[in-house]
Formats: sequence, C-alpha cells, structure tokens
Amino acid sequence: MKTRITIAKGDGIGPEIMDATLRILEAAGAQLEYDEIQVGEKVYLSGNTAGIAPEAWDIIRKNKVFLKAPITTPQGGGYKSLNVTTRKFLGLYANIRPCFSLHPFVQTKHPIMDVVIIRENEEDLYAGIEHQQTDEVIQCLKLISRPGCEKIVRYAFEYAKQMNRKKVTCFTKDNIMKQTDGLFHKVFDEIAAEYPEIENEHWIIDIGAAKLADTPEYFDVIVMPNLYGDVLSDIAAQITGSVGLAGSSNIGETCAMFEAIHGSAPRRAGQNVANPSGLLQGALLMLNHIGQSEIAERIQNAWLKTLEDGIHTYDLFKEGTSSKQVSTSDFAQAVIDRLGQKPQTLKPVEYKADVQLNLPAYVRKAPMKKDLIGVDLFVHWAGTAADDLAVQVQQLNHGDLKLKMITNRGIKVWPDGFPETFCTDHWRCRFQNVNNSPITKQQIINLLQKAEEISLDVVKTENLYAFDGKPAFSLGQGQ
Ligand code: NAD
Repeated sequence: MKTRITIAKGDGIGPEIMDATLRILEAAGAQLEYDEIQVGEKVYLSGNTAGIAPEAWDIIRKNKVFLKAPITTPQGGGYKSLNVTTRKFLGLYANIRPCFSLHPFVQTKHPIMDVVIIRENEEDLYAGIEHQQTDEVIQCLKLISRPGCEKIVRYAFEYAKQMNRKKVTCFTKDNIMKQTDGLFHKVFDEIAAEYPEIENEHWIIDIGAAKLADTPEYFDVIVMPNLYGDVLSDIAAQITGSVGLAGSSNIGETCAMFEAIHGSAPRRAGQNVANPSGLLQGALLMLNHIGQSEIAERIQNAWLKTLEDGIHTYDLFKEGTSSKQVSTSDFAQAVIDRLGQKPQTLKPVEYKADVQLNLPAYVRKAPMKKDLIGVDLFVHWAGTAADDLAVQVQQLNHGDLKLKMITNRGIKVWPDGFPETFCTDHWRCRFQNVNNSPITKQQIINLLQKAEEISLDVVKTENLYAFDGKPAFSLGQGQ
C-alpha cells in the first residue's frame, strides 16, 4: 500500500537535496507516490505574494503529508514567508527538531549531544503582524495564546514520554515579558505537574541559550516559543557539526510537513555540493509518521554508516576525520550503497512506528471576570519634552479619568522623567481613573473625540483590563 504525499523541490539547493533524498527513499523501498507542487521564488516573482498557487493547497490538504525542500522568501516587497503560512494555514502547531552529534565521525565540540527542540509553530512575534505608527517607530505584535501554549507544552511532555526521554526544559524570557512569556511558563508549570515521572525545569532564555551552546549534553527535550525555537534550533544543529544535518517535522491535528531546518543556501545552489542530510532526516521523520519505520530505520543506519566511513559533503569535511569529500549526488549514492548495513561505532537505531500522540482537545476555561480599568493612547508627537506633551494631553482629562503617566518606548518619562532618557516620536499616554475603578468604552470614545478636537495625533489605543481583579498589562518601566 503506497502512501501518496506532496513534495515541493523549492529553491536554491532545494531541487538537488530533494532529488538526492527521493533517490535514497526509493532505493530503500519506501512505499510512496508523489504529487509535486511548485512553491517559492518562481511563484513569488510571477506576482503571487503568497508563493503558492491556490490549487496547490488542495493537493497538500488532500494528501495531508508534505515533504518540502527549503524555499527562498524574497526580501521585503510584501512577500509573506510560505513556510510560516503553511504552518499556520494547516495548524501545524508543533515543530520538532532533533539535533544530535555523531562524534567522532563528524567534528563537534559537543560529543554527547542529543537534544530535541520543540518549537511552538504558529504564534509569537513570528505571526509577523507589524505596523509603522510614526515616522520613527514600527511595532511587531507578539501574540501568545493559552491554547497555543497548552498544545505545544503538552506535545513536548507526550513526546518525551513516548520517546522515553527524561527531562523537559522550558525556555522563556518571562522576567521581562511577564504577560506573554509569563503565560508560556505558567502553562508549562501547570502541565509539567501532570507528568511527575518526567523531570522539568525552566531557564531564562539568554542563560539557557548560553548553556545550550556550551553544555548541550545537559539538555534533553527543550520546549519554547516560536522565535526562540527558530534561533536556537539553528544553533543546536550547527554545533552538532553542520546546520545541514538536522531535519524537522511540523505536526498538526490533520496534516504534517517535513523539511530540513536550514534554508535554500542560494550561494551553494546548482553546484551539487550541499549536504542532503537535513532533508533526508526530515523524510525519515515522515516515514516514521506514516508507519514506514522499518524503511526509516534501514536508511538511518545506512546514513550513519556513510558518515562513519568518512564520506562527507563539504560542510562536514575535515582532514583527518573525513576520508572523502563528496558531492550531493555521490553522498546519496554512498547511502544507497550501504542500505542493509549498520554503523560499527555509532549506535544503530531501532525505530518503532510513531504512536500518533493522542492529545486532548483544548478545552476553553470558564470566562474570567474582565474589567476595563483604563486605556493607553499612543500619540505621534515630534516634540522632545514629555512635560510639554503632558500639558496638551491633560486637556483630555475628564471626571476621575486622568492622565496617569507617559512612556516612550516603554520607559516612564512623565511624571518625574529623566532628561537623559532618549525619546522618539511615539508616546504612550496612560489614562486610568484616579481610584483605579472601571471605566466605560464611551469614556475612551470621549477621549478620542477630544484628542481629535485638539489635533492630537492618536495612532493607536490599547485597552487596559483586569482579569479576575488582577491588572493584566505591563507597568511603565520605572513606574
Ligand atoms: P541557509 O540555511 O539557507 O544557509 C546558511 C548557510 O548555511 C549557507 O550559506 C551554507 O553555508 C550553510 N548551509 C545551509 N544548508 C546547507 C546544506 N544543506 N549543506 C551545506 N551547507 C548548508 O540560511 P540563509 O542564507 O539565511 O537563507 C537563505 C534563504 O533560505 C532565505 O531566503 C530564507 O528566507 C530561506 N529559508 C528557508 C527556510 C525553509 O524553507 N524552511 C528556512 C530558513 C531559511
């Protein structure tokens, strides 16, 4: 019984590494049929800013399993990353990136590294929701949701359980982003408590990343928000020996996409030199996913034996360690020649078919008590002295609703600002009732009406809420 999958050869080195990967899969007897779709640079440059034709979505959704080579996202110009679009359209919320070293056959400073990075795949700054609001300031919205956190954290613990891993670590920056990263950490603690047999811990991302780069053997499974996972998984792959070694799976409730973690490396394109291992590793994750684990095991053992024999592409080649530098296609042939063999020194793998992780559906909690207790008006103002702006903005005060503070890029500049603080043309003016009691939306409309009358350029408003009586917004720095 063949499984029909969708493939896309992508851009740059994509076609070369996809051809090499498919040759290996075929030679190993993978039971696959392919529908090939066009995505990426050519589609973008033909005027389609999504980088994919609408019919291609139908094929991806019908086959449900997608093996994708890297694509080039043209810089700027309104082109949206197709990788991000695919992950979000198809609800591929979990991105799993195993990074392990192959010491002593692939040179690395970290001989006993075996880390799986589980990256949240749909939210965070990666949503790419950006707005220019003033001449000088552009914002990017960081959205973190409770269902997003619950799904990815639970996935990480279920993955650890299924793969017999001992520890799940969470990385966030919740000492600074107390609301967004704070939620991720809170949900991690809640869900970790349901898995007492698995060790859990949280690290602040900066020192966690330093520790990962320095002592990766300390970590086992690491779960983190999208952007951090993007950055750290490249680092983790690179320190195993090459970014060209790691593959990833993008898993959703109905569809899945498999790829290399690296990009299209345009400078290496068309030269038959790139390492196809990253995409091959993605393809093996795919074979496990569709129940062809025996084939995946055969290929992985042949791949390990190839690397053990010192047959290396340019990115891995080192005098003394490697025996032969080979092209992309010769590397594929070397793996094919070793099908049926096992590595001698590296541990041969034994795969069992992935048990589909049976995650409970997200259950929305009872609504919290939500009180509107203020509003931030963001003002475009080209002056420099916050006290002058305060005089203008205070004209909006009415009743108990009064200007409480002004910040610039998050730092309080009124009242009692420091003259040393550098200010841009983007000012946040916070209004709250003097006794912090709830306000009405009508009061916000009144504020805006008045602002319009005095020609104050309000570029955005942000409501300030308390949930279950607890203020749920950040204070001004220094407030
Ligand atoms: P990149 O990962 O493509 O390449 C960076 C460098 O890593 C290359 O110059 C090369 O030296 C090395 N490298 C990467 N893959 C290799 C391989 N298989 N074998 C040997 N060496 C390899 O990163 P980039 O240059 O920042 O991005 C290039 C393009 O790829 C951009 O347009 C970017 O948007 C896109 N990209 C796509 C994906 C994806 O499709 N999933 C992911 C990341 C980047």
